[in-house]
Amino acid sequence: MRPPVVVDAELEEILARASEGRRLTREEGLRLLKTSPEETLAVAYVAGRIARQLTGGIATYVVNRNINFTNICINSCGFCAFRQKPTSRLAYLLSPEEIANKAREAEAAGATEVCIQGGLHPEIDLEYYLSLLDAVKGSTSLHIHAFSPMEISHSSRQSGVSIKEALRLLKDHGLGSIPGTAAEILDDNVRHIICPTKLSTEEWVEIIKTSHRLGIPTTATMLYGHIEEARHQLNHLEILRDIQDSTEGFTEFVPLSFIHQNTPMHRSGLGRGGATGIEDLRLFAASRMYLDNFRNLQASWIKLGPKLAQLMLCFGANDLGGTLMEENISRCAGVNREMLTKADLERMIREVGLKPIQRDTLYNI
Ligand code: SF4
Repeated sequence: MRPPVVVDAELEEILARASEGRRLTREEGLRLLKTSPEETLAVAYVAGRIARQLTGGIATYVVNRNINFTNICINSCGFCAFRQKPTSRLAYLLSPEEIANKAREAEAAGATEVCIQGGLHPEIDLEYYLSLLDAVKGSTSLHIHAFSPMEISHSSRQSGVSIKEALRLLKDHGLGSIPGTAAEILDDNVRHIICPTKLSTEEWVEIIKTSHRLGIPTTATMLYGHIEEARHQLNHLEILRDIQDSTEGFTEFVPLSFIHQNTPMHRSGLGRGGATGIEDLRLFAASRMYLDNFRNLQASWIKLGPKLAQLMLCFGANDLGGTLMEENISRCAGVNREMLTKADLERMIREVGLKPIQRDTLYNI
């Protein structure tokens, strides 16, 4: 696969290796994360070809609903504009029955999944999370994709049970899979600055691996475009690739481009205020090549915007994520959109020459 832009011999060799499905070294990964704009276009072109070969010319999406059950949170991550203090007039906590009502509405509208996440409420424990699952499971047949590793850690600590026991109970009560959020950048030097009270890299990895061992699949994410550098992104990708080698429990990788506008970090002048288009492209293309054991790379339209997300389908991504119905976290951070319809997603896919296919959470067609 010869790219349309002239690249140096070193990069040409990397692209050839990636095209043949051979594993890239750390040095090669770093080179991909540091390409010039012109080189990025060449890498992206090859990443797109690799994705098309892998998937046979299809791109997928899921019909789902986001439910954020509380915005009250004891943490104070610098990139988060969603969190409220318990005393805020905007603070809320939904009851399990209110959540079940939203899930029933989603099922009636054709959804196959509810994605449920919330803040770290100081007064809820594992019992609340279990009753939430019972309420949704008792009234719908939806797949429940819920609770980040940070929420798993919070619920287990609040109830004084081990992570493994918490996960086992959550699975017994209907938890189908876990969003691999709260990963941000898996490098403690970065975490100490952007989310100092969040779980450490080691804890995140342990919760994810324990979930996989218990038969609970997860996604993998990366929040990029703030203070991190290429070497931090590489450390993150390396950790994901290693976990996938040992557990095969990740269903997809979802790079999350930082929405900065209303966040505390941006207001205090910290970080670079979101990735630019060329950074987005560089990260997607490099991820497609470096994560050779991930089949699915999702372009999140809520983070990238529908137009850039569509373009990513040409440059390494093979999935557009969900319809969402009700997105709160990115909206609080400054995005002015909440949902796309099935028809919107299918049109975006068709117009880049791919065949749209609806999938479920675990990528069954
Ligand atoms: S990102 Fe999550 S844990 Fe951090 S402040 Fe926001 S709601 Fe709380």
